[in-house]
Amino acid sequence: MIRIYNSQVREKRDFDPIEEGKVRMYVCGPTVYDQIHIGNARTFLSFDVIRRWLIASGYEVTFAQNLTDVDDKIINRANEQGRASEEVAKEFSDAFIAQMRRFNIMDPDIRPRATQEIGPMIAMIKSLIEQGHAYAADNGDVYFAVRSDEHYGQVSGRKIDDLMVGARIEENEDKCDPLDFALWKAAKPGEPSWPSPWGQGRPGWHTECAAMVHRYLGTPIDIHGGGGDLAFPHHENECAQATCCWHAPFANTWMHTGMLRVDGEKMSKSLGNFYTLKEVLDEHSAPALRLLMLQTHYRSPLDFSYERLEGAENSLARIATAVENLVWAANHGAAADAVDAAAAAKLDAAVSAARDEFEAQMNDDFNTAGALAAYFGLVTEANTYLEQAAGAIDEEAARACAASIIGAFAVLGIEVPVREGVDLPDELAALAAELVAFEGDDVAAAAEALLDARAQARAAKDWARADAIRDRLKELGLVVEDTASGARIKRA
Ligand code: AMP
Ligand code: ZN
Repeated sequence: MIRIYNSQVREKRDFDPIEEGKVRMYVCGPTVYDQIHIGNARTFLSFDVIRRWLIASGYEVTFAQNLTDVDDKIINRANEQGRASEEVAKEFSDAFIAQMRRFNIMDPDIRPRATQEIGPMIAMIKSLIEQGHAYAADNGDVYFAVRSDEHYGQVSGRKIDDLMVGARIEENEDKCDPLDFALWKAAKPGEPSWPSPWGQGRPGWHTECAAMVHRYLGTPIDIHGGGGDLAFPHHENECAQATCCWHAPFANTWMHTGMLRVDGEKMSKSLGNFYTLKEVLDEHSAPALRLLMLQTHYRSPLDFSYERLEGAENSLARIATAVENLVWAANHGAAADAVDAAAAAKLDAAVSAARDEFEAQMNDDFNTAGALAAYFGLVTEANTYLEQAAGAIDEEAARACAASIIGAFAVLGIEVPVREGVDLPDELAALAAELVAFEGDDVAAAAEALLDARAQARAAKDWARADAIRDRLKELGLVVEDTASGARIKRA
């Protein structure tokens, strides 16, 4: 049973989807006026992993995410650069999709764009006006009448009277109440706009998600997500529109992610303390960045630094080495009667325990930090096994452990960067032939022959010959690595 923290009720509850075996989820997408930063990426990664775990748990998940491709920020950026707003939106929509794929985030099943959903948004606004929840102002704006929704505040837990403090009407607005928000904005000269019953204009930001959720998933949905900074006003306003328009609940479970911070401060475009996902992935691997982020629970704040990212890079290399050593040891497993059965049984038990713990942690509100800790523990157990059972390795146990590690990280979308055990260039066969009269073209066999020759030379204390083999390998860009379970050849 999966338990999820529902931020609307502020507690963990058993997850019970509306339709058995199916999950409908929506996660607000980016406003496409620039490259996204790694704070944004943290939120999208969190929901990618949540989605992956729901799928791994047997649910059929339908995942929708919008692109906000018309907005003040896009229009401002376009004006700054002397470009059309559509062109800026297209550039950064494409960039967003490309960077998400590079970060191994699954494409949504449905990716609606605001500019393609004007009709459904106008229909929703019309209905809200007819039902007395919205009004058209003289300047061509349409506003949602917040006080007409008796449940307003239900998502974020805020009270209308508290909201009044500090609420004010901006100069260019024409609302009846400072709390009201724009569903439709009258066009200003030079801005992208669409015809509507209230004149040329464009939708407000909160309008699009409500209309898209209803159109593509149907309300209520099971899970609605986004960064914690979206709970108010964005999600509150989405919910108000949808519930007032269609008289059904909007989302059964609200999930909000903690903020990524640098030096204790929220990463944001406006503070200027940001790194784009693109620049970070240009220098560091996607699996390492995923690992770093997933080592913190999705609801907790996450402190980012390049030192921590390098730390994750090292952890990943350590995991990869353990897997390589397990595979190598399995390939050189002992004969049945020479296997250390007790050590193998201990390793098998550690694999089962890690798997159970991983599942329990993921089922507990997607605690990736706990799930990863279980597998870091298994990696330590595996290294101990390789050392203690060297020469008496149980092929099956070693292989199963390697597969379990790779599989667990894969569930989190982290590819363990394992190099192939014996991955050598053709020159090796020639070298082997020269040094040990090896004949044939099987590279793996050549590597074995070379290692044998080196082992024999060392056993005979023929250091010159052993060194010669090592030096010739080095010239080919290869190194001999002496592992707990014997020597092997790898690319340098
Ligand atoms: P935006 O394009 O500003 O709507 O942001 C896209 C998503 O990123 C939203 O879900 C935001 O809540 C989220 N977000 C923005 N800044 C951060 C941050 N520093 N850490 C985590 N998520 C963030
Ligand atoms: Zn939204």
